[in-house]
Amino acid sequence: MRKLGLIGGMSWASTVLYYEAINKGVSRRQGGLVSAPLLIESHDFGPIAELQSAGEWDALAEMMAASAKRLERAGAEGLLIASNTMHKVYDRVAGEVQIPMLHIGDITAEKLVRDGVKRAGLIGTRFTMSEPFYRERIEAHGIEVTVPDAAMAREIDRIIFDELTRGTVSRVSQRTLKTCLTMMAQARMQAVILGCTELVMLVDPGANVLPVYDTTALHSQAAVDWILAADA
Ligand code: GLU
Repeated sequence: MRKLGLIGGMSWASTVLYYEAINKGVSRRQGGLVSAPLLIESHDFGPIAELQSAGEWDALAEMMAASAKRLERAGAEGLLIASNTMHKVYDRVAGEVQIPMLHIGDITAEKLVRDGVKRAGLIGTRFTMSEPFYRERIEAHGIEVTVPDAAMAREIDRIIFDELTRGTVSRVSQRTLKTCLTMMAQARMQAVILGCTELVMLVDPGANVLPVYDTTALHSQAAVDWILAADA
């Protein structure tokens, strides 16, 4: 098996989902007591969220690159950044290491393409929904991407930073997400992308008004495939 490095803690509430999904995936495929060889650097999310709000993406890129280099030096043979938002600096981080990095947007878009989805809704942090870095990466695969209206987008961003990244799941927010997905179905979206790694805490991907693409699960599945890839 290949050893994967995770740049995590963004937030811890979703890194734990990755840890579980990757280990379960490897164990299911390999059987017995086999589990995933991983290196995890779990960041303190407090300063990261502050730098995101302040627009200090150069500083964030440096932090992520330093993390990537530490994991590479420690023996990781591949990497992933366990946050959609932090993929804003993906190219700069990938350029600083020799090992491959699994891009959450590409993995998600490839699955949408395989499933024949052409029009998808996207929800995530305000950065992911309003800036081009993520949307364009999905659109490059020939998928039309739509984000919620401004009021709904603001509320989803608030739920992510005030609740989910702190490990809090509320009934009211579950209902807000349900309303958002219903609006997307009415607007003839074929699917919705949970473009934030904590959103699956609120949305049940199996029971919804339209197909839900959980980026945490898709990224974790890609991690399992990569760890077990025969060409290692
Ligand atoms: N985990 C989140 C994401 O997937 C948000 C946390 C962050 O701002 O990095 O975008």
